[in-house]
Amino acid sequence: MRSLTDAVCQTRAQLEAGADWDIIVIGAGITGAGIARVAAQRGYRTLLLDRGDLAGGTSNFSSKMVHGGLRYLGQGHFRLTRQAARARERLRQRWPDIITPLPYYLMHHRGRGPGPLAMRLVLWIYYRISGAKPFHRPRWLTPEQLAARLPGLNLADNLGANHYFDAVCDDSHLVLRTLEEAVAQGADLSHYTEVTALRRNEQGQINGVDIACGERRCQLTAPMVINATGVWADGLTPLPEGLMMRPLRGSHLVFDQRDLPLTASLTLFHPRDKRVVFCYPWAGTSVLGTTDLDHLADKNAPARCSAEEREYLLELLPLLGLNHTPPILSSWSGLRPIVTPQPKAGEKQAPSDASREHLIWDEPGLVNVTGGKLTTFVEMAEEVMASAESQGRLPEPQPQPDIILTQRPHLDGSAIGNSLTPRHELVHWARHGAIHQLSDLLLRRTRLGWVLGEGLRAYQDEIQQLCQPALPWDDSRWQQEWQHYWHHFQQYHQE
Ligand SMILES: Cc1cc2nc3c(=O)[nH]c(=O)nc-3n(C[C@H](O)[C@H](O)[C@H](O)COP(=O)(O)OP(=O)(O)OC[C@H]3O[C@@H](n4cnc5c(N)ncnc54)[C@H](O)[C@@H]3O)c2cc1C
Repeated sequence: MRSLTDAVCQTRAQLEAGADWDIIVIGAGITGAGIARVAAQRGYRTLLLDRGDLAGGTSNFSSKMVHGGLRYLGQGHFRLTRQAARARERLRQRWPDIITPLPYYLMHHRGRGPGPLAMRLVLWIYYRISGAKPFHRPRWLTPEQLAARLPGLNLADNLGANHYFDAVCDDSHLVLRTLEEAVAQGADLSHYTEVTALRRNEQGQINGVDIACGERRCQLTAPMVINATGVWADGLTPLPEGLMMRPLRGSHLVFDQRDLPLTASLTLFHPRDKRVVFCYPWAGTSVLGTTDLDHLADKNAPARCSAEEREYLLELLPLLGLNHTPPILSSWSGLRPIVTPQPKAGEKQAPSDASREHLIWDEPGLVNVTGGKLTTFVEMAEEVMASAESQGRLPEPQPQPDIILTQRPHLDGSAIGNSLTPRHELVHWARHGAIHQLSDLLLRRTRLGWVLGEGLRAYQDEIQQLCQPALPWDDSRWQQEWQHYWHHFQQYHQE
């Protein structure tokens, strides 16, 4: 099976040789990865490009929930919730090692948020429309039952909790697995390759792209280009008239699980504005998030958690029985690609009320897609491909059998620090994960950077020793990589 490293090396050689493709997909987040997989499976010669790392955009900074979106149901978006809840079930069946069910306890406090009975009704509707297993039907937990299920927390006086199920994943692993399958189906892949412009033929129709890969510039032609660049989609082509991109930032704080011991996700109504915020176990840590606010800074610079967002999230700790702030290991912030109508003068919609639905728009030779959710990426990819095929510019499809890659055989090996990353997993990604720089390995192929924070420094020498045979960097390059890594990490983590 071709690894990601092999695929990137082979693709670079093909780019040098002036090869051509049927479809060029721009953006290796979950949206572009899903499209590349479907396109390759249909037998199209497919090339996927990203200007940064694989899964380096929003798809690695999400809340990592594979869910129908209870909140959307509450807002009356029945279709979106139903579609996403069913997509969650399909993803769980396809990749049970990546998408895992997680119990959620929706805690109720007197005078805060909707009442327990109303929520019980909403949860029943949610359960019924998702087609989930009977075992996952919602239940009621008294305060005593809730406390017994979360023995490490000293929960403040609450009315009890509605207990339901959703699923959680590692978002960048979801992208990587999708890419591995795309590559296994024959897709080509080049990261750190920026599309600098779309190319047009004499009739003004899109017929390729200009790219920059390191010092190299070249032009590629293809009958179909797909722009799946998320929050940056309007950088390559304008949105349809009357619409605008409204980047909404969401931030998360990461704690050591020993400081905030959780076996389930707690769904809380924020005391300040009654927004739903989650506190959940992830990759051996406990995560608190997310916020939802307009990102007014440059969207091309790394987004990070502001002091104001940190304060907002920390206000939830007393509800979890904590009257002090444990050390924050790391924090991440992502930009939601939200497309909204241009507001009329004086009109202002609250960020959390803005629709998360995706948008597809096209012109001859080009299909654009933005918005949506991780959870619905397969359905979005199919819609995009239907739109591309309907233009009649692609050759006859030659569908191949679907390739589903499952978990790699689990070798014995202890995990690094308090992370859940075994040493052999780190080495596997170093060798096969198309690593261009150390932060690819430590922030996206593994999650050691987020999970250990500054504690990673204690493992620097060991990581270097383990990975040096797989990554052909000499000692001075390693030193540079470490410096660059810490700079990169700080850019995300601090304000
Ligand atoms: C805080 C937050 C929480 C979320 N939580 C959830 C959740 O729990 N569940 C859920 O289902 N969804 C969630 N979402 C939504 C979900 O994360 C996004 O909808 C999804 O990740 C968007 O993926 P994408 O591939 O479209 O964009 P991205 O992942 O951003 O990918 C776009 C890619 O395009 C590349 N690119 C841009 N310009 C160029 C160019 N010129 N040339 C080459 N490449 C380019 C970028 O480098 C990037 O890698 C959340 C989003 C946020 C922000």
